[in-house]
Amino acid sequence: MGKININDLEIYANHGVMEEEQRLGQKFLVSIALEFDLEKAVATDDIEKTVNYAALSHQAESFFKDNTFKLIETAAGRLASELLLTRPQVKSIEVTVKKPWAPIGIPLEYVSATEKRTWHEAVISIGSNMGDKAAYLDLGIDTLRKHGIIIKKTSSYITTKPYGYTDQEDFLNACVRIKTVLDPRSLLDVCHEAEKAAGRERLIHWGPRTLDLDIISYDRAVINDSDLTIPHPQMHLRDFVLRPMAEVYPDWKHPLKNMTVKEMLDRLPPEGIRKTDFSFDSLEFKDAIEKTNVKVIYFGTAGSYSQAAMFSYFGHDIEYINMVDWDKACDALTSGQADYAVFPIENSNAGMVTQMFDALVNKDVYITHEIFLPVSHCLIGLPGTDISEIDTVYSHPQALMQCGGYLKAHENWKCISMENTAVAAGFVVKENNRHYAAIASAIAAEQNGLAILDSGINDNKNNVTRFAILSARPIVTRTAKKISICIELAHESGSLYKLLSYISVFGLNMTKIESRPIPGRNFEYRFFIDFDGDMTMSDVASALTGIKQNAKRFWFLGNY
Ligand code: ATP
Ligand code: CA
Ligand code: CA
Repeated sequence: MGKININDLEIYANHGVMEEEQRLGQKFLVSIALEFDLEKAVATDDIEKTVNYAALSHQAESFFKDNTFKLIETAAGRLASELLLTRPQVKSIEVTVKKPWAPIGIPLEYVSATEKRTWHEAVISIGSNMGDKAAYLDLGIDTLRKHGIIIKKTSSYITTKPYGYTDQEDFLNACVRIKTVLDPRSLLDVCHEAEKAAGRERLIHWGPRTLDLDIISYDRAVINDSDLTIPHPQMHLRDFVLRPMAEVYPDWKHPLKNMTVKEMLDRLPPEGIRKTDFSFDSLEFKDAIEKTNVKVIYFGTAGSYSQAAMFSYFGHDIEYINMVDWDKACDALTSGQADYAVFPIENSNAGMVTQMFDALVNKDVYITHEIFLPVSHCLIGLPGTDISEIDTVYSHPQALMQCGGYLKAHENWKCISMENTAVAAGFVVKENNRHYAAIASAIAAEQNGLAILDSGINDNKNNVTRFAILSARPIVTRTAKKISICIELAHESGSLYKLLSYISVFGLNMTKIESRPIPGRNFEYRFFIDFDGDMTMSDVASALTGIKQNAKRFWFLGNY
């Protein structure tokens, strides 16, 4: 890597905060440092292979004279960008602006500011689903070019199904790999300008648009601002981004996922039944969920209530594994590593398990059955122990709370919180101490070879947890009697009322409605709605069709 330095070019120009500085002007000293690969120039001694510093100096002088900036740092930054823009062979340009006669009332040698600009590589995804889509994509790319952005590679234009709000025309999508001196925010401004040039109106999020430009990547930068997220937060899940991006930048590595574009593309769930293009025709009707030859995932550690729920439904004659990550468990279903997953979704006291509901929306999994399991806490300890020997009790804080009355009757016991009830049971085994007990499920006792010293010790005997049996297939069994959906509504008054009217017009019995904020969007909500019925009833089909057509986004979560 070589360097060329131009030191203290004298330029008379009009920068400054004060009016007379701008009017009368003064002398500035401008230094320019270029970094680039000098090998070819050195080897051939050919001016064509290097940067012509006379031309560079004159260009700097004109730009510096023709423009007026208040701050010397702005002047330095803009000059560096200007000079770099026409010299793609240069790696970086650093400009120092010295102001020898800064009017501060005390003699000084000079004030200076230094700004450096380098080239950045970014990928922009472009999409259109209105009018002459290809022409809009061309317009987007032209707008980028007009702002001095170098288009290194353009993918083919691919036709894709709409995402999210599915009741709209197909999209035409592409990715461009660019080289730019712009910072991410200025690049976003250019994207917005291109959308404006295409006359885009933002009516519905994920709705029809003439042109949409998203910054997918910017070098390997990670930016998490309220109005700018880089890499684009959904890129790794989107076939319509990854496929064209693999054409222009297959080796780009996601800084957070640590996977290349190609790897992310390979990881996308197989083209199964995507929730986003779900149609009621894809429902799979069955007599019942099979209980033999299946592989089941349960949530949490061995001895958890989910495991108990799983055994209560499937019996013990199945292959099973446990997982503690909702998203990974859903991915295991959609990639075919397991047939079903048993997850807690709601507790009669604590309410809905919110992460599970987010996963239900984001992942292509469906509720196929539900299990209600009474929470029945036991006091468990080493075999042969008598309750009178206990002095310390371990459990999850919620379980300790739920047994508050029981524990109060044993005032001399010390209560210690643990990560979950199953871990507490494991701890008692490990410590092998007759004075220790855990509050956990009966199954945790069984799993850990512990004895049940007392059972049903929770205060509220009506505490019930609802578990869902999830599948990647939208299975509807003969016993199905409840339908769950999720909707997002346009941000206008009366939209919820209008949608719910479909439920009442068709005489359906709505049993639950809950709202959840939409992740990443302030004060916008999703509604989770349950009602009685099954998909073979014609009123149900009519109501759902109406709701689906009128909601901004719609998800069928299951009929079970
Ligand atoms: P999605 O971003 O899920 O594809 P969208 O493109 O339809 O949805 P828009 O309405 O076009 O959403 O964008 C909403 C806002 O998202 C933009 O105004 C912008 O400020 C912000 N935004 C955040 N990160 C990015 C990014 N990487 N690229 C483009 N816009 C972004
Ligand atoms: Ca987008
Ligand atoms: Ca966008």
